[in-house]
Amino acid sequence: MIQVDHVTKHYGPTVAVDDVSFSIEEGEIVGFLGPNGAGKSTLLKMMCTWLPPTAGRISIAGHDVAMEPLAVRRSLGYLPEHNALYDGMRVDRFLQFIGKARGLRGGELSERVGWSVEACGLQEVYGKRVNQCSKGFRQRIGVAASLLHNPRVILLDEPTHGLDPLQVVAFLEFIQSLAEGRAILFSSHILSEVVAISERLLIINHGKLLADSPLVDLKARAAEKGQELEETVLDIVRSGGNGQ
Ligand code: ADP
Ligand code: MG
Repeated sequence: MIQVDHVTKHYGPTVAVDDVSFSIEEGEIVGFLGPNGAGKSTLLKMMCTWLPPTAGRISIAGHDVAMEPLAVRRSLGYLPEHNALYDGMRVDRFLQFIGKARGLRGGELSERVGWSVEACGLQEVYGKRVNQCSKGFRQRIGVAASLLHNPRVILLDEPTHGLDPLQVVAFLEFIQSLAEGRAILFSSHILSEVVAISERLLIINHGKLLADSPLVDLKARAAEKGQELEETVLDIVRSGGNGQ
């Protein structure tokens, strides 16, 4: 459902993403792991049509991001790194507003808002203003807004940033509940979070994809070397390669 083919992005002299390829199928939650500045946000921005790649091709739910950007936007839900909400708006009104911007009206709008409120566990804050909600709820509101049009591909850019440990656990469980029938790419710089949610990891640093590996394989490699998983992953990040 997600196809990234030899994608590169330059910002002037900076190579933010360097010849990255991978694909993600329906039902998969894939962890996108890398330190700050690795190129995660840049890649997600190209996947959601925000930025054009310098080279390479991306296809989302069968649509090419360069040729069919509107079809791509209809197919995906994207939670940006800095999730912008309208603070003074009530949660219900905010979701209705976003739903209308997505072209939903009448019964369909109410039905989709109701679904995303329930899916995202927003019942208790539904009548509150956005700025009265905790950080955990604000992240859920962002995800609810990104799910209103029922996308089959979900891109989440460091969605747990700023959550406390209990909120992180609840949020990861919530994201897992969304996986059926969808493809989810979840970026983070925290190994324990991607390990908790995904069975497959993409590891990126300096714009290069250093590993695309099932978690069990990484764990097996760690066990072979008598290492903790963290050490094995750090070795991959530091090596700049050999992780495939
Ligand atoms: P991550 O999300 O993994 O922290 P980013 O994709 O934000 O990484 O950044 C990758 C690299 O691109 C970094 O070196 C960053 O400084 C650089 N970069 C990101 N955005 C811009 C921009 N708008 N202009 C120039 N350089 C940028
Ligand atoms: Mg980022």
